[in-house]
Amino acid sequence: MVNEAEKKGIKIFKLNVGDPDLIPPKQLLQNIKKYNKPNLGYAPSPGIAEHTASWAKYYGSFGIKIKPENIIPTVGGAEAILLAMMAVADVGDELIVFEPLYTSYKGFAAMADINLVPVTLKVENNFALPTEAEIVSKITSKTKAIVIINPNNPTGNVLTKPEIERVIKIAKEHNLFIISDETYREIVFLGKPSSLLQFESAKDLAIIVDSVSKRFSCPGARVGCVASFNQDIIWSILKFAMIRLSVPTLEQYGLVPLLNNSKPYTKKITAEYKKRRDVVVAALQKMPGVFCQIPQGAFYLIVKLPVDNSENFIKWLLTEFNFGKKTLLLTPTAEFYITPNQGQNEVRIAYVLNSQKLKEAMVVLQKALEQYPGKK
Ligand SMILES: *Cc1c(COP(=O)(O)O)cnc(C)c1O
Repeated sequence: MVNEAEKKGIKIFKLNVGDPDLIPPKQLLQNIKKYNKPNLGYAPSPGIAEHTASWAKYYGSFGIKIKPENIIPTVGGAEAILLAMMAVADVGDELIVFEPLYTSYKGFAAMADINLVPVTLKVENNFALPTEAEIVSKITSKTKAIVIINPNNPTGNVLTKPEIERVIKIAKEHNLFIISDETYREIVFLGKPSSLLQFESAKDLAIIVDSVSKRFSCPGARVGCVASFNQDIIWSILKFAMIRLSVPTLEQYGLVPLLNNSKPYTKKITAEYKKRRDVVVAALQKMPGVFCQIPQGAFYLIVKLPVDNSENFIKWLLTEFNFGKKTLLLTPTAEFYITPNQGQNEVRIAYVLNSQKLKEAMVVLQKALEQYPGKK
């Protein structure tokens, strides 16, 4: 549908994928170009020493004292998700997740035959975590971990300290791990970036899924890591890491200067995303019947639209609608839920275009909502 619309000369504002439009720090390519070994061999499975040392230094910049041996580089955060889940769960075991949920978890759980048990969060509630009792009611003898994504994709939500403490309390009382996906750690618009590793009470049960993709705007580098103070978890992850041999050599070297001194860049992009968030939220709040929370992090938000079905609306945007030869592409949120029939009139917006383009895109969205025949 996108190709057809583009063939007709319609410009599509693509707000559907979390692929940053920003330029990564120039040291990344500069450092890769300095590589001067005659061969390009496998990197060691536990990572290139210089690279894992730079991750340790990176965590150190948040006051976290972790040894390089407790950090295993992975092929993106994606592989970190898979390895973390497989380290805690066997076939048929269960993980508690909060939905809407980043979809890779669903796919990897299916691959590994692990069951995800969802706790549903609501946009009307600003995606706040439910009570302790409600979360505990999902725990069975097969539950091995609780997964949190903080800041969150697809919601843009950031967990409060009491919410994190609630999850830690439950995990401790029920002997569970916490898999904490902190891919968007620095992209927070209020307060300071944080990590579950900063919580002393979570020391043995925290497993961090991390990635350079979003914080350095380089998803093509394919580098992430699993970090944990728990030595048994690290041994398990390392065994899996040995099976898949290694993480790209050049990128591991290239990322060293970025991890050693991350803040100048991450502060800059966080300010940029905040500006964009403000543009999008201000425009959405003026549209009748539209509801969104004010996201506190990452570069997404979920919007409830006055439409019959968001997937139909998106198809209509691509096939039937244009405003001055412009339309837009959004993500229907149904795919982010595990529970059937959730999120039917919600979309996710990824603000991965500059403020000027976002302003134009929001005008197009407003016109579309006025004209859509399935309006509610
Ligand atoms: C993008 C993303 C990842 C991982 O992405 P990679 O490019 O594989 O590093 C992990 N978790 C969340 C929530 C993400 O949005």
